[in-house]
Amino acid sequence: MLSGKLWPAHPKPHNGECLSSWLVRCAHSNGLKLQTFCRLEFGSNYQLWNRDIDRHIPQWLLGKISEKVSVSCEELEKHMLSLFEGRLFPELTLSGQLRWLCPLVIKHRLHNGYGMQFCPQCLAEGAEPYYRLSWRVGFYTFCPYHQIIMHDRCIECGASVSFHRCELGKPGIYKDANMACCWKCGFDLRQSPNHHVRFWNKVLFERWAAQLRAIDRQFVNCGKFDFDRLILLHQLCRLIVSKSLAPDLQSYICNLCGQPERELIKTKIAFEQRSLAERHYVISLAKWLLLKYPRRILLAIGVRVIRRNWLYRDIELNDKSLLAVCAVR
Ligand SMILES: [Zn+2]
Ligand SMILES: [Zn+2]
Repeated sequence: MLSGKLWPAHPKPHNGECLSSWLVRCAHSNGLKLQTFCRLEFGSNYQLWNRDIDRHIPQWLLGKISEKVSVSCEELEKHMLSLFEGRLFPELTLSGQLRWLCPLVIKHRLHNGYGMQFCPQCLAEGAEPYYRLSWRVGFYTFCPYHQIIMHDRCIECGASVSFHRCELGKPGIYKDANMACCWKCGFDLRQSPNHHVRFWNKVLFERWAAQLRAIDRQFVNCGKFDFDRLILLHQLCRLIVSKSLAPDLQSYICNLCGQPERELIKTKIAFEQRSLAERHYVISLAKWLLLKYPRRILLAIGVRVIRRNWLYRDIELNDKSLLAVCAVR
């Protein structure tokens, strides 16, 4: 039944939907379980789901999908992490930590990381649930539409989001609705609690939300999106959580902006692998320091809570404004 030029059912990807989510929907729309669908279409030798397919998919496979749904490869790539190449991180490598990307940490088809975040309300909207590419972004810690904190796991059993597994061990069940359910315990993720974001600084959160909406629009009509500033934001986040590089930075910012100081987990893991709540908190502090740029950064350097050389360590110095900070003595 799949031998035609096009798949019998070939739903188009939703706006901002990630490729993996859409492939699951394609399988279900054709009345097949995902594993069966992939075996019939891509052969049993190719294991699609033991890798992060939004990060990398071989060109032959992308070409095949493109033909079967009549959507160009270029269009499909907008639903993959390659969309962020040269924007959030310099180059899309096959492995290793990418700046601002929450990793899935896949082992034996299991997601051991919590790299797919979700907004329960977004998931509940529209005709069918689907997962957005932007939800993989490390600073996408709240939903800019519903103004609630994202989730990154099932609140019932703690399992990561692995919608490609939602039908495993459930013979005959492949309805779309299952994509919104925890693959492990069946909890409907749309029922996850709504924790409203505390907008403690209006300008800060408005700009942050605008940034998130721009990512959802695949950066179309986003005006002058300052990608270089995201490099600096990342550096600051790394410094705030580092007890060795900038031990006083967190309390310095908290004193000035009136936010509570929190105990941060002592770990050497990448910033993107820290808990969602911790990322949200740290990013908000870093963003506060970046308001009125570069004044607050320079003041922090002046009182020695930030060392200038740590600020631009390990990064590409193509940010003119950052160079300006580095040059001020
Ligand atoms: Zn939402
Ligand atoms: Zn669960």
